[in-house]
Amino acid sequence: MQKLQQLYEGKAKRVYATDDPGLVIVDYKDDATAFNGAKKGTIAGKGVINNQMTNRFMAKLEKAGIPTHFVQELSERETLVKKVSIVPLEVIVRNISAGSFAKRYGVEEGIVFDAPTVEFSYKCDALDDPLLNTSHALALKLAARSEIETIRKYALAVNDFLKAFWSSCGVTLVDFKLEFGRLADGTIVLADEISPDTCRLWDSQTHEKLDKDRFRRDLGGVEDAYAEVMRRMKEAL
Ligand code: ADP
Ligand code: UDP
Repeated sequence: MQKLQQLYEGKAKRVYATDDPGLVIVDYKDDATAFNGAKKGTIAGKGVINNQMTNRFMAKLEKAGIPTHFVQELSERETLVKKVSIVPLEVIVRNISAGSFAKRYGVEEGIVFDAPTVEFSYKCDALDDPLLNTSHALALKLAARSEIETIRKYALAVNDFLKAFWSSCGVTLVDFKLEFGRLADGTIVLADEISPDTCRLWDSQTHEKLDKDRFRRDLGGVEDAYAEVMRRMKEAL
């Protein structure tokens, strides 16, 4: 498999073409951003951890019946994935109040919900990823109704899997963001990443934050937190 020209450079990853039009290579950087790029920095070793964690989860989810873009890990930071056309929705699942949910509704962080919530943001940096509902997504023709139903079903199944997995590692899954894409034949698959950049993970005993909130909120110990969740994941596998 040949790595050809760069197709896209995002905030955390680069995407490269390959000699197969149906496959691309994602290359994970140590760059970190928050607040839609307003805060910038580096988290040493993050690219390796996010690549390896994402791939382990994608492989497990695939086995559990959720189709994903994952093909093969190529190196510490590079992975071969199926090329998709990304559905421009950030799919956020929450088990516990935190972050923008707590801010928007004026509640404290840490309220455990009776059932998970699913929400969508329009993936559009220029508009600051505005929150939207299904009828908005349909009006904007971002996805078909059946696609949104599939995405919601997969997102909740991913939550069930991740919640149980992290719980077995002494980690509480607070919330996370997923992205889905369409293969050439229209099949919806899970894409992008599942990592401490895109999940809120709290130590189950101490409630210590073990995710990107340490960077967003200048809490220190960012690298150690990423390394700690990776260590616990490897121990559990
Ligand atoms: P951002 O674009 O938000 O800065 P990244 O730095 O993570 O994000 O860049 C990776 C980009 O690749 C994202 O836009 C993501 O939607 C996209 N992407 C993820 N998986 C795939 C895939 N399988 N095929 C094509 N694009 C993908
Ligand atoms: N998230 C993400 N990318 C985004 C927005 C959110 O990965 O562009 C993740 C974030 O890490 C958290 C969850 O989605 O795990 C919910 O984030 P929230 O809506 O609370 O926004 P934030 O507080 O990150 O602004």
